Amino acid sequence: MAWDFSTEPEFEEKLEWMRDFVRNEVFPLETLSLTYDQVRVAIRPLQEEVKAQGLWAAHLPPDLGGMGFGQVKLGLMHEILGQTPYGPVVFGNNAPDSGNAELLAIGIGNSGNEEQRRQWLQPLLDGDLRSAFSMTEPNTAGSDPTLLTTSAVRDGDEYVLNGHKWFTSNGSVADFLIVMAVTNPDIHPYQGSSMLIVPVDTPGVDIVRDVATMEDPDTPYGRFGNHAEIIYRDVRIPVGNLVGREGDGFQLAQQRLGPGRIHHCMRWLGQSRRAFDMLCERAVSRYAHGSVLAEKQTVQNWVADSLAEMQAARLMTLHAAWKMDQEGQAAARVDIAMIKYYGAAVLYNVIDRAVQVHGALGYSCDLPLESMYRAARAARIYDGPDEVHRQTVARRVLKGYVATEVPTEHIPTRRIDAQRKFADLLESLTINS
Ligand SMILES: Cc1cc2nc3c(=O)[nH]c(=O)nc-3n(C[C@H](O)[C@H](O)[C@H](O)COP(=O)(O)OP(=O)(O)OC[C@H]3O[C@@H](n4cnc5c(N)ncnc54)[C@H](O)[C@@H]3O)c2cc1C
Repeated sequence: MAWDFSTEPEFEEKLEWMRDFVRNEVFPLETLSLTYDQVRVAIRPLQEEVKAQGLWAAHLPPDLGGMGFGQVKLGLMHEILGQTPYGPVVFGNNAPDSGNAELLAIGIGNSGNEEQRRQWLQPLLDGDLRSAFSMTEPNTAGSDPTLLTTSAVRDGDEYVLNGHKWFTSNGSVADFLIVMAVTNPDIHPYQGSSMLIVPVDTPGVDIVRDVATMEDPDTPYGRFGNHAEIIYRDVRIPVGNLVGREGDGFQLAQQRLGPGRIHHCMRWLGQSRRAFDMLCERAVSRYAHGSVLAEKQTVQNWVADSLAEMQAARLMTLHAAWKMDQEGQAAARVDIAMIKYYGAAVLYNVIDRAVQVHGALGYSCDLPLESMYRAARAARIYDGPDEVHRQTVARRVLKGYVATEVPTEHIPTRRIDAQRKFADLLESLTINS
């Protein structure tokens, strides 16, 4: 019987190396307020070290330059490197590039357009190009992409793209954008939408601004991790830049968003753990009203609840990852939806308790908690809001039930059935009593 929660010793050794590496080499970078270009320079030698360890883009199959580790091992890795915003980029699996690489690979598989591998996919995998995913529009509900209005109209060997997008993460530092657009308005959007590779320097691409957010209210333009507002005005894109085939947009979006979502959930495990460690350290250190905080029952409840919630999120995430590895991401759709809203709530709650236990220090910028807290709030919105994922899960679950006039567990009804079923027994019991 296969039911095993252990990590194989060779991989545990790699995880051990990562724990040291991330804490000693990557964490310190967070404190230096580097610009995007400075970060790129600072992480180059770290990326080389990761490559030398055979851990670069580890989740991707070998034909995409990865190690073929799959999702479970990536989950275990992300628990470590997801602790810091720089971790994923040092290890070659940061959003949105990791999801976009998978998207391009699937598209090339669909279309056979090998030129895209040379021009876009390989440089992306090598870390020489940066990408962004441009789907959400300010004027239509992102949670219902059938409402998208951005259009790409075929004109000879080109598409002419027009539309207004925002929250294109990394759009202002990307070399190319993958844009979702309606290519055939006369049929259902599921068949009438497509994705296009749009180099940022194409005439008509207007990166209006980086949207200031709760995560970063004073963000300078062109910072890694920003979210760009972009207007596309008569942007001419060669037909060869279509990802997959015309009409593949929704199918590709589904395939991209599954891995993208679970990768976020994996990183949240690392973020939650980091906040939890801060919570516990402060609890045993701070003295008030006759004891350290660790001896107050409320604080003990925070520790116990956080640990249980994190463990639940971890097992759900790794199980969803295992299912993806075993049966493919379509089979894991409900598991991924479930962990997306559950994991986002755990992340938020653990960070919130860690802020609270630190009092004013938790609220201050002297600890990373305040920025982790602000970033965590977005987790309930991006890659589909909580409510939509809950709906997916509930709908799928409810399909397994049929309406009844009388509840199946109705005791008087069951009693009549039982009396019928055990009539002989009941009769003999009556005679013998
Ligand atoms: C930090 C961050 C990064 C992002 N990065 C990207 C990116 O790189 N590329 C990109 O294209 N987009 C990106 N987005 C956009 C994100 O995907 C959208 O914000 C998300 O899909 C929700 O769309 P919306 O903002 O238009 O909200 P709406 O669709 O307007 O929804 C608003 C609210 O309505 C409610 N709601 C919606 N549907 C239902 C329902 N069925 N039942 C009950 N309530 C419902 C929910 O409470 C929801 O929060 C990012 C967003 C954030 C915050």
